[in-house]
Amino acid sequence: MDLGDPGYRVLLVGACGMGMAPLAIYLKQRGVDVHGCDDYPVPATRDRLRQAGVEWLDHLHAPLHFDAVILSRAIAYDARRMEWLHRRFPDTPFHFRGHFLAHIASHHKTVIIAGSHGKTTTTAMLVNNLISRGFPLSYVMGGFFTDNQHPAAAFDSRSPWMVMEVDESDRTIESFTPELSVITNLDLDHVDHYRDEAELTEVFAQLIDRSRQGAVLGAGCPAGLGQRQSKIHKQPARPATTATFTETNRQLSLDVANWILAQNGLSAMTGSAAFPGVERRQELRQLGANHWMLCDYAHHPSEIKALATWLSTTYPDCHQQWVFQPHRYSRTKALRKDFALALSKHPCLLIPEYGAFEPSDDEGSSSRLLQDLIELGADAALCSHPETLFEKLEPGNHRIWVFAGAGDIPLWASWIEQRQRCPGDTADQIWLAFHRKLLGESSLLQLQMPLSRKITLKVGGAARYYAEPADRHALQLLLKSARCLQIPVRLIGNGSNLLVEDEGFSGLVIRLNAPQWKQLEPLGEGRFYAGAGLPLKILSRSALAHAVKGFAFLEGIPGTLGGALWMNAGAMGSDMSMVVEAVECLDRNGKVCFLTKDEIGFSYRKAPALRELWILGATLKGIPVDDPSSIQEEMDRMRDHRLSTQPSEPSAGCMFKNPQGDSAGRLIDLAGLKGLKIGGARVSEKHANFLVTERHTRAADIRALIHQVKSRVEQIHHIVLEQEIDVL
Ligand SMILES: Cc1cc2nc3c(=O)[nH]c(=O)nc-3n(C[C@H](O)[C@H](O)[C@H](O)COP(=O)(O)OP(=O)(O)OC[C@H]3O[C@@H](n4cnc5c(N)ncnc54)[C@H](O)[C@@H]3O)c2cc1C
Repeated sequence: MDLGDPGYRVLLVGACGMGMAPLAIYLKQRGVDVHGCDDYPVPATRDRLRQAGVEWLDHLHAPLHFDAVILSRAIAYDARRMEWLHRRFPDTPFHFRGHFLAHIASHHKTVIIAGSHGKTTTTAMLVNNLISRGFPLSYVMGGFFTDNQHPAAAFDSRSPWMVMEVDESDRTIESFTPELSVITNLDLDHVDHYRDEAELTEVFAQLIDRSRQGAVLGAGCPAGLGQRQSKIHKQPARPATTATFTETNRQLSLDVANWILAQNGLSAMTGSAAFPGVERRQELRQLGANHWMLCDYAHHPSEIKALATWLSTTYPDCHQQWVFQPHRYSRTKALRKDFALALSKHPCLLIPEYGAFEPSDDEGSSSRLLQDLIELGADAALCSHPETLFEKLEPGNHRIWVFAGAGDIPLWASWIEQRQRCPGDTADQIWLAFHRKLLGESSLLQLQMPLSRKITLKVGGAARYYAEPADRHALQLLLKSARCLQIPVRLIGNGSNLLVEDEGFSGLVIRLNAPQWKQLEPLGEGRFYAGAGLPLKILSRSALAHAVKGFAFLEGIPGTLGGALWMNAGAMGSDMSMVVEAVECLDRNGKVCFLTKDEIGFSYRKAPALRELWILGATLKGIPVDDPSSIQEEMDRMRDHRLSTQPSEPSAGCMFKNPQGDSAGRLIDLAGLKGLKIGGARVSEKHANFLVTERHTRAADIRALIHQVKSRVEQIHHIVLEQEIDVL
């Protein structure tokens, strides 16, 4: 099966990426059966893809077959993920986006737009020019038009012509043999793939050689490229330094549009069509009468220089104060001196580097860049917290705050904007307003949420910040902003194994309570995919409904899947380790990871590898049976046993783990502690391992009771009881 064959099915992994989403749209228009998934599902992009007819997959555990899997390059940096995907789709060919684009390009008369900077804008301007002229063409851009008037990609069966933005970062550019290559400019970058400028230039020179009708060069292309004279249609008269990228992009896109029109015997355009712009590249926000904030994607020294030059000419009266975030250790390390030079011209505040999952390297860090700036005598400082940054930014008339970079700097910029616009608000009010804007209405956000309402012991103080994220993207944003703001975070499920201190929690408590977190999808053969917020009761009952054995022990445990996995919950000789296949998590850096059952290292009430992770969901497996009546009987037995042995007052279930070969309840009972009471906390008369509470009980009462019970059991039985519940 190949492109163009009816029923051809592809899966795009990382489909929300700016290179992947347009490719998905193009393939869909071409009649391909397109499926998409992403670890970081940006709702706006996902919705665009759905509108374009792409089938969205929340996970890849369902039994699906594809003719090809197309991968975003980001996946290649994650060996474990690659291995998992290959195991998941063993007989399916895998392609990186760049290689697949080259395959598509070979079906068309393709004009590719490549180069270090401005290729997305140049491609969008070229497409916009040709569309406005009514010229039929297919295209794949690397971004979305801001006005959404035209899609980011299209397939037009009437025309052999294709315009395509091509990325040089991973060298997949070497597989292209286009009709015409348009090279905007060249600067050393992606040093993990290019040793030096000479190697980069050679790759592009070879591209020109392969281009059937040659190349058009933009300003900023090195002299080496011009040596392929016979192949060059047009070289710019203007040196790069005197023009901004936008000006040169406009000229270049007009030149290329006219070249394509001429090839088709059509008259030239005299000027460019009105251009709506491309998302995420640049945004100007007004903060006061003559006070601006500019957010720009510039993340290379040449882009910084060009931006600063453009700002000086466009806002000559404005004092520039820069905020810069280095993106990737490898880039910052290799180009650090150039970054320092480019940034030294204006007061500059650095924020912590954005590693993009690269291994940490001091030589490519913000603090190392700061040293270089200081050596150059620049007015520079490093701010590791948005509030420190805000204090150092100088407000006033005739000022422009320039936020440049490609990491999480937009988040910092939005925080600063919120701070500047609401000077009278407290830090907590700012947090609330900032996150309301960031997450929209669908996520629940609250300050000072009483946590006694969220845990089954019904005690404890409030969470300073509280959120119930609507979906995975909202959770990822909350965790990302908490990292920036250095706010401690805890995830909770149903709070049925938790004690909250009377002082509450001076951080962010996140509860996975929205419907998205409670999904349960049967995968066949006794397997399920379940979200971390799924109540265990629904899990056990659904397993019964699907005649799957193995989940009955969960009947009556009032927790969620996330909480149960986190502590390997169990009862009556079974526990979570017996039904888990793999757990999907986020690590503390926000990266999605999968852990198999063996990797988690489950033991009695322990799941060591999950301790430092945020659990998103899991695949579970039971045993399919023909007759579910035995499951029903087992569940009835469990329920009756609980009703007859466990108290009905608020508790967190068993307070202590059973010592090996014994029962904590038996030891507490033998120590004569049933009914022992401190404040409102009491050892249950019905089950000695349950500490129960009444109204107005304080967490301190429970703490004191735990202490008493432990020391009495130790005195009498010489056994130290270990607490089962966790403390927030
Ligand atoms: C009446 C009663 C009976 C009980 N019976 C049993 C029993 O028979 N067997 C048993 O094992 N337990 C029992 N428990 C204890 C409790 O119900 C279980 O431990 C349950 O699995 C906890 O789930 P939860 O969602 O309430 O977790 P929570 O109490 O909300 O959280 C527990 C821990 O898990 C962490 N956590 C929760 N969700 C996530 C996530 N998505 N990612 C990362 N970390 C997370 C929390 O931070 C916390 O550290 C009982 C409790 C009660 C009140």
